[in-house]
Amino acid sequence: MDMPDFSETDDRARQAMLEQAERELRETLEKMPHEISLILFTDLVINEPFNQATRQVIRAIRELSPKIGLREFNLGHEMALKHHALYAPTLLFDPENYHIRWLGAPMGKEGLTFVEALRMIGYGQTGLSQESLKILKKIQEPRDIKIFVSPSCPYCPQQAVNALKAAIEKPEFITLEIIDVQANPDLAEKYAAFSVPVTYANEVLIAQGAQPEELFLSSLEKMEQQTIYIPESDAEQVETDLVIVGGGPAGLTAGIYAVRSGLKTAILEKGALGGQVATTPEVDNYPGLTSVGGKALVDLMVSHALEYVQIFQGEPVVDIQPGEPIEVVTTRRKFLTRAVLMATGANHRPLGAKGENRFSGKGVSYCATCDGPLFKGKRVLVVGGGDSAVTEALHLHHMGVKVSLVHRRGSLRAQEQLTKNLSANNIPVLWNTEVKKIDGEKRIAEVLLYNNKTQETTSLPVEGVFVAIGYEPAVELAKKIGLELTAGGFIKRDGRHRTNLPGVYSAGDVEGGFKQIVTAAGMGAEAALSIFEDLSNPYWKREGADAAAG
Ligand code: NAP
Repeated sequence: MDMPDFSETDDRARQAMLEQAERELRETLEKMPHEISLILFTDLVINEPFNQATRQVIRAIRELSPKIGLREFNLGHEMALKHHALYAPTLLFDPENYHIRWLGAPMGKEGLTFVEALRMIGYGQTGLSQESLKILKKIQEPRDIKIFVSPSCPYCPQQAVNALKAAIEKPEFITLEIIDVQANPDLAEKYAAFSVPVTYANEVLIAQGAQPEELFLSSLEKMEQQTIYIPESDAEQVETDLVIVGGGPAGLTAGIYAVRSGLKTAILEKGALGGQVATTPEVDNYPGLTSVGGKALVDLMVSHALEYVQIFQGEPVVDIQPGEPIEVVTTRRKFLTRAVLMATGANHRPLGAKGENRFSGKGVSYCATCDGPLFKGKRVLVVGGGDSAVTEALHLHHMGVKVSLVHRRGSLRAQEQLTKNLSANNIPVLWNTEVKKIDGEKRIAEVLLYNNKTQETTSLPVEGVFVAIGYEPAVELAKKIGLELTAGGFIKRDGRHRTNLPGVYSAGDVEGGFKQIVTAAGMGAEAALSIFEDLSNPYWKREGADAAAG
């Protein structure tokens, strides 16, 4: 089950949240029209901690509902032979009807995927969009999906749930293995799955990273990674006052403020909710929470936002047409809206070293939270000198990874407290050093380092390179619709978050500024209030009338 790390947050709030989650889950499982049989294969010797964890998760779920049956067999049993179970633990879901198996324990973030699998099978409903069903219809040959996940990866559930939907909707053609890389390091090695989620179909790599539902199905149909999906049909139309593009702290906060001001609002998020916060190992500077995991903070924000505003997740915006109303087209529907708030955040900045692209997912990672567990006991570098690099280095160190920091200058720009923690944990720092080349065969074996003081070049054997050198604003859509940008490449806006297009606003990291969670949330609130005032008395109409009058 997904148990956020609330180690130092309010115990009562945590207890209340857990009790509510348990009540909701019990109700969901009790109302399922179908019973679900699970078969678990374990072994007395192999992977015992994972076997135990799987039993515990299933026991906890079965305590909530009698509709879930479990049979357990040893890997040596004839049932294992019959079901081709080779790894412990292997969990089969309703094997009479589906070909879905889980290799590993459904722990951490994967608890969410596990519950979704039960819910979809138990209700016989996947909730696939009409567009997705159309793509699925085109698949008329077998697809054996393997998806590699880790319990600490916030992006993994989205991709795993996409694959589950496909396997449940089309069991005659689609089989699915969800493979936990921590329990199955040999399989992760064999498939070079060092940056999760990674998806294979019929042994062909079809996706790196999490995809919106339609893109996943399109990749599955075409058997290669697709980057864009444009719907063929006339989509459903939804009328709103405000569409918020982006579900990070700015977008979520704006959603709460907008609905509380009386605006009919929708938040659209193409990927994982929470933006960069979702992958921040620990946040120590959000007021009210002394120390909280980034994903736990996102969960709190999302449940708060959902009290007010509808969130359309996994739904990328493909176009915005200015006008009255403004049209916002996603892969699934069209929103007719009076205002749009661009809260698209920022993407990680690439290093630009030779070999970076080649080894992306094969040792080069941009998410220590997701991929850290794969490097336990291994030697890795974290590149960067800001808060992200130091936070990630500390996180990896605490996970048992042999980590060194590489920074191009002689001093860090990270906060003093983080820098002190770095020295207190004896994490080596390679000063004035630049990564010039990342090299290896199938995966990273060494990096070429250049000392810009001594001008010496050395090679260092490492198995991973975590890049944490800041972010670039996510302005592709902004550029496409003609929003003006600043010299630094951020969306240009006035003091009320208005852009150059009437009715289009911006908030959060896409505007630049201090790039803190609390400032992004603050900008979201400001923008929502500004939009509310403008929609009550539109400045673009006022200016037009003033001009005509004057
Ligand atoms: P950042 O503050 O912009 O720092 C980027 C670091 O990467 C700098 O040290 C920079 O070096 C280095 N760098 C940039 N380009 C490089 C390149 N091509 N090659 C090598 N090194 C390069 O980015 P960040 O650390 O991701 O932080 C972004 C924002 O998020 C900040 O405002 C930060 O405070 C915030 N944040 C906060 C927390 C927290 O409070 N818990 C955690 C993470 C991030 P120079 O120093 O030489 O420029």
